Amino acid sequence: MTTAPAIYLDHNATTPLAPEVLAAMLPFLQKGFANPSSPSGPGGRVKTAMGEARKAVAALLGADPAEIVFTSGATESNHTAILGALSAAPGKRHIITSIVEHPSILLMCRHLEGLGVPVTYLPVDRHGALDLDGLKAAMRPDTALVSLMWANNETGVLFPIAEAAAIVRAHGALFHTDATQAVGKLPIDLCEVPVDMLSFSGHKLHGPKGVGVLYVRKGYALPPLFHGHQERGRRGGTENVPAIIGLGVACRLAQTAMSHELMRMGALRDRLEEGILAFMPCARIHGQDVPRVPNTSNVGFATLDAEAILHRLEREGVIAATGAACAAGGNEPSHVLMAMGRTQEEALASIRFSLGRDTSEADIDRLLELLPSVLLDMVEPPGSKTKASACF
Ligand code: PMP
Repeated sequence: MTTAPAIYLDHNATTPLAPEVLAAMLPFLQKGFANPSSPSGPGGRVKTAMGEARKAVAALLGADPAEIVFTSGATESNHTAILGALSAAPGKRHIITSIVEHPSILLMCRHLEGLGVPVTYLPVDRHGALDLDGLKAAMRPDTALVSLMWANNETGVLFPIAEAAAIVRAHGALFHTDATQAVGKLPIDLCEVPVDMLSFSGHKLHGPKGVGVLYVRKGYALPPLFHGHQERGRRGGTENVPAIIGLGVACRLAQTAMSHELMRMGALRDRLEEGILAFMPCARIHGQDVPRVPNTSNVGFATLDAEAILHRLEREGVIAATGAACAAGGNEPSHVLMAMGRTQEEALASIRFSLGRDTSEADIDRLLELLPSVLLDMVEPPGSKTKASACF
């Protein structure tokens, strides 16, 4: 068991479990172990508790509890949405997605391309924004599904999901959004946003790992990935009850904290970015000029080595990341930043700081205190001046 870092700024990778979530889960890991499908009294009580969790998830999304399908996480939800859409409309085979999606979408699309499924990858501009005219132009009579992320996990940039969903609906295709980095960070009301399916994972909003949700709009008979009677035939397999109970509590906590946290986190993010730009004016905030979730800041430190900066910060007790935790690993430039037109060098000089409910003003100030000396140490000694040194 390792100890938590002093300052954790990698909440887009995962968040710490809220104490209330852990407390709610424990009884279901102990005496409340019954199978919710069992007709016994204890089974019925577990089923009732799961129903409460489903209501809490639905409330956070502005959905009906019957539209919530529990899964093992966003990856499974994403795959169920994509594969289900292909089998729901056998005459339609074309998929549209964006070039900056999470690997759980992109790798599945690449796999399907290998099986002969045509996939269109929509580009983004230098801000990371999506062009809706490009989406309209890409729609085909055989488009089965459009899948676009709500918030980007690396930059926090938001896609115009309501508008995109309306376009897709008008063309008679299904629309799915990977909202893993949006749920709990932004108000979401699916009464107002006509998506057919939405995915997210519990561990991004202070809930447990290994549990997630696929929202499925009423009226769409989702073909399951796992066949079985659970989740009304939409996801077979005995439910991960303790995690589902924890997810319900996490959603309730997120809903209660939402309006306050939106403001607080946005202010902390701005404080961080202004502080960085004050001592390094040539630093570049990726996606700064377009709508973003309030907790994410992706900063390009000129041509400095982001991995080396992260190692130095970690030695000082600060954890951040170069990009997606689930990316291929190694020193690969981010596919998101490359899609935004950054050079490989710029992409490899970029760090994602992602804030959470446990992030304080003191954390940000400590980071701002540490960064100048860490960055100055990275600049080559006099005689081999880099672009970065010219920028301090
Ligand atoms: N989509 C996005 C946007 C994500 O950020 C993540 C997690 N990094 C996932 C999907 C996959 O979530 P999980 O690993 O919990 O299945």
